[in-house]
Amino acid sequence: MKHASWTLAAFATLLLAGTAGAQAPPNTVDAHIAAARAAASADYRNTLLNLCPLFPPAQPGAGRGGAAGAGRGAAPATPDRANWYAPPLKVFDNLYWLGTRQHSSWALVTSAGIIIIDTNFAWATDPEIVEGLTKLGLNPRDIKYVVISHAHGDHDQGAAELQKRYGAKVVMGNPDWDATLARKEYAGGIPTKDIGVGREGMKLTLGDTTMNIVFTPGHSPGTLSYTFPVKDQGRTLQVAYSGGTLTGNFGADGPRWDEYVASQKTIAAAAAAAGATVVLSNHSEYDNAYTKARLIPSARQVGENHPFIVGADSVQRYFTVMQECAMAGKLRNNAK
Ligand SMILES: [Zn+2]
Repeated sequence: MKHASWTLAAFATLLLAGTAGAQAPPNTVDAHIAAARAAASADYRNTLLNLCPLFPPAQPGAGRGGAAGAGRGAAPATPDRANWYAPPLKVFDNLYWLGTRQHSSWALVTSAGIIIIDTNFAWATDPEIVEGLTKLGLNPRDIKYVVISHAHGDHDQGAAELQKRYGAKVVMGNPDWDATLARKEYAGGIPTKDIGVGREGMKLTLGDTTMNIVFTPGHSPGTLSYTFPVKDQGRTLQVAYSGGTLTGNFGADGPRWDEYVASQKTIAAAAAAAGATVVLSNHSEYDNAYTKARLIPSARQVGENHPFIVGADSVQRYFTVMQECAMAGKLRNNAK
């Protein structure tokens, strides 16, 4: 009898553990991938595919670099426009998408000028940012700030040109300024240092709009993420912007994986504190920004929301995907 009651108690405990699904999963690659997959649901499949080590590492010589894709930064020659051009699109009352089909750049319009968020490759500055603003009826001369999430070529090559032409002030994380200023030459030129952001982050106010800039190192040593307000037909909403995604070159660098995971927690907490119901990344190929932006003028069915408004829970799930994929990646790489 004693044995039977022990068994019953153990069974009850197991059942309880089984129902307490929100508890931390065991620290294995598969458990973290399962957690990431659950958090991604159908909403963040591209992020999951690009970030999570879904497949075992390739055999040496098999030609696949492993978990999370290729590194960024090298500037390709101007590619065929047919493969990247996208027209500029209005997404919220005061937020405009100026991206290519692969990368996003945004214009946040305030009562005192424009903040450009990330700038894409140098070859996209004129067709997407300058001509894009003009097509939308905005004036590139009103660009007051260029906020760079991190100093990789797919996001920062327009900064120097916008600074030179329009006197815009460039904002970047301090460690990424160090990398920028150490360059000898660079596609699009090298900006002079205006505003560096340290570990404490900063608030950037232009006219009626304040961006909360959060220091989220990991993807690069000075990656910045943000929360900021936008308006949808006059209603104010908060956006969480994720500044750096891929972890493909972290390898066995354990502290770097840990820093990345900690940064995702930091921006997730900032997003929750702000009440963010919109999440944006700087890669339109991951977050479908182009497809979503094109849906905005379409008639919505009953119960359908603005395509970028996903809700606070979904915003948190996005950052859970980032965290869980990184924890899986760290284990997969045997990083200590
Ligand atoms: Zn990057």
